[in-house]
Amino acid sequence: MPPVPHDILRDPVGSLPEEWDALCASWSERPFRARQVFRWIQTRSVADAAGMTDVSRGLRDRLAAMGLAMPAHIDRANRATDGTRKLLIGFPVGGTVESVLIPPMPDDDDDEDEEVAEAGPRAPAKRVTQCISTQVGCAMGCVFCASGVAGLKRHLTAGEIVAQVLLGRTLLEEGEALRNVVLMGMGEPLHNYDAVARALRLLTHHDGIGLSTRRVTVSTSGLVPEIERLGADFRGEVALAVSLHAPDDDLRSSLMPVNKRYPLGELMPALRRYPLARRRRITIEYTLIAGVNDRPAHARGLAKLLRGVPAKVNLIPLNPVEGNAWRAPQRADVEAFQTILRADGYSAFIRRTRGDDIDAACGQLALHGAAAVKRKLPVFAGAGEA
Ligand code: SAH
Ligand code: SF4
Repeated sequence: MPPVPHDILRDPVGSLPEEWDALCASWSERPFRARQVFRWIQTRSVADAAGMTDVSRGLRDRLAAMGLAMPAHIDRANRATDGTRKLLIGFPVGGTVESVLIPPMPDDDDDEDEEVAEAGPRAPAKRVTQCISTQVGCAMGCVFCASGVAGLKRHLTAGEIVAQVLLGRTLLEEGEALRNVVLMGMGEPLHNYDAVARALRLLTHHDGIGLSTRRVTVSTSGLVPEIERLGADFRGEVALAVSLHAPDDDLRSSLMPVNKRYPLGELMPALRRYPLARRRRITIEYTLIAGVNDRPAHARGLAKLLRGVPAKVNLIPLNPVEGNAWRAPQRADVEAFQTILRADGYSAFIRRTRGDDIDAACGQLALHGAAAVKRKLPVFAGAGEA
């Protein structure tokens, strides 16, 4: 695809090495200086020119003059008893999102064999997953989602998306290493395609954060043209998660308005076409809402819908959102749903809500402190804490 024009002066932290090369060349700086600056930002989370101690004084002054700075800050960090950390991330230009650091859990069940094989004989670091946001709010309007209720406030820049990881890294604890990044926080990543694609390049850049491409997961409500674009731009190497939540168009459209634009008849063929590497699967997210989409007939419908898609299913009991009466199903109903999928040969996992005591469930905007959401959702016990 043709490169999307990028203004390094507007989004320096979202800039790639070659863009630093060009800027430094225009300042008659030697090429290695450009790499130094890129590395300070991307590998050491230093975006303040004054902190770049091995960079020449003249270049530091120029960087400071162009306004180079971290485009985000941690407004608040809460740690749950299970080690989950929720960050409230604020932006100097306005808006707040959340990001969650999730430590490995003893019952983490999927991909375990693969992990052991990869880690070899060395003791593996504690593999942390970070969930990050891509927009302030979300335009997709899913009825069970706090971000959807809030509506879209604005797209994040690539620098603001990556800054969540640069800042999150500063909160890693002894023995922990960032291993996975999931774009499952606030926002619809594929609705902010250009910034997200750039952020993916930065997250996986070997001179920078250096995550393995398949350990970065883009979660989407199902924007078909952008799924195709993502598959083509990253040759299917970026992991894809698709939120289905219903086995048929009527129910799905009632939960997710985006289904009217891209119904299952278009979405499912796009998933079958996604250029997955061998032995890789698409993650299907299915949020279970009691009495709405959690009946055995729904599970059977989902199994049928998924035929021919290399998929594993994550079942996510609803995190109730104030303002509607929906609740998570009973555990027995969640397990019955899982059993039906497994009987049909699908991997199906029940996602536990982590960090319960700090309201840190990834994929659900925490309402504390999110002023934009509070305005729309009148009743919330504890909202005054913000
Ligand atoms: N917009 C993208 C990614 C962010 S949402 C998407 O929709 O896929 C990440 C996941 O959290 C989605 O599967 C979403 O449906 C789910 N989710 C949103 N609100 C939720 C809630 N209240 N309870 C449980 N899961 C929720
Ligand atoms: Fe947006 Fe995802 Fe929430 Fe739907 S579930 S409103 S797409 S963030």
